[in-house]
Parts: sequence; C-alpha cells; structure tokens
Amino acid sequence: MCFYDQRKFQCGDFKWDHFRQHCNREYRTGETCGTKLVMTTIPVRGNCKHCEKFETKKRRRAQELDRINRWRKEGNRFAASIERSEEIVQGLEHEIRGMMNERAMRLQSTR
Ligand SMILES: [Zn+2]
Repeated sequence: MCFYDQRKFQCGDFKWDHFRQHCNREYRTGETCGTKLVMTTIPVRGNCKHCEKFETKKRRRAQELDRINRWRKEGNRFAASIERSEEIVQGLEHEIRGMMNERAMRLQSTR
C-alpha cells in the first residue's frame, strides 16, 4: 500500500495524482506496490474527461431533437433530414447508454 494524492472532480469521479509516500512494507525496496491509498484529496473544478464527453453527447442529442421538432412543424418538407437526424439520435443514445454502463463499472471497480 502506497500513498497518492487524488483529484476529485465535480461529477464525483476521481483520478490518481502524484505519488506521495511509500508504505512500510515497500519502503526499503524503493518500489511502489499496487495498492493505492489516498494521501490528500484535491478538489477539481469541472467534470472528468469521461463525464465531459458524456455531457457533450447529451448536448448533441438535445440539439438533434430540437432540430427534428422544428422540422416536424414544417410538414413533409424535411422528411429526409428528419430521418437522418433520427439515425444520429439513435447512434448517440447507443453511445450514451454504453458510457453509462462504463461509468457504473468504473465506480464499482474503484470501491
Ligand atoms: Zn466523471
């Protein structure tokens, strides 16, 4: 067990930062062992890069849905565009679901 700082993001995720101190077991060898313990938690403004990406995808989806709504009011004029946009939304939803599962798995493995 060795001590590290960790950065905690507003989204609740954290990432390991600088190595700080060896534990007693590894002190003499100068090696760091695999088990990380928290020395200091440093709060960070903003979300981690996973959640940033996640938010970007959600914004993109909202934009597409907005466009679709606007086009729908125009009757059939934009049928082809609507169809294309709906495919994009489906793709984004697939990615968003995947990222949510990934995040759930990440949270489990860091506990
Ligand atoms: Zn995050």
